[in-house]
Amino acid sequence: MPAQAPKPARAPEPTQEVEPAHEALLRLVRDTHRGKPATEPVLVICRWCGATEFTVGDTECFCIGCCLPLGVGNGEEHGFPGQYPWRLEAGDTPIPACAAQRCCCHDGHAEFELALATTPGPDHRPRTLTIALHCPQDHSLHLYLSNAHLTPR
Ligand SMILES: [Zn+2]
Ligand SMILES: [Zn+2]
Repeated sequence: MPAQAPKPARAPEPTQEVEPAHEALLRLVRDTHRGKPATEPVLVICRWCGATEFTVGDTECFCIGCCLPLGVGNGEEHGFPGQYPWRLEAGDTPIPACAAQRCCCHDGHAEFELALATTPGPDHRPRTLTIALHCPQDHSLHLYLSNAHLTPR
């Protein structure tokens, strides 16, 4: 074990809370994405403009700040950072409350925060993808993709 600098003992700051809604969102991804081993779920932040809310379509999510696609369904060099191109296959779960091309929550809101996790294959390229949605207006949670299969191309 390499030596580590001792950390000062400190009580957790009561004000240093993780936002409960984000915790619930991450937990939904973690509980759904039972691939083994899966990466820890992460909140999605647009790599281009830093926005944290997205509109959600059939097989793609678009940043509300810069309108660029996240790269869910058709990732080339844009999209998830470090992503290898893949083809998205059907997941376990159909997209909920999704009218035609744009997802809305039950109250009709169409902008969501996202959390996702992937499972790497033997070559470390992602093989499954789970994405959950959080409506920041009413805090409802939705599953967008559940263990959807990714075929490297
Ligand atoms: Zn953006
Ligand atoms: Zn809503």
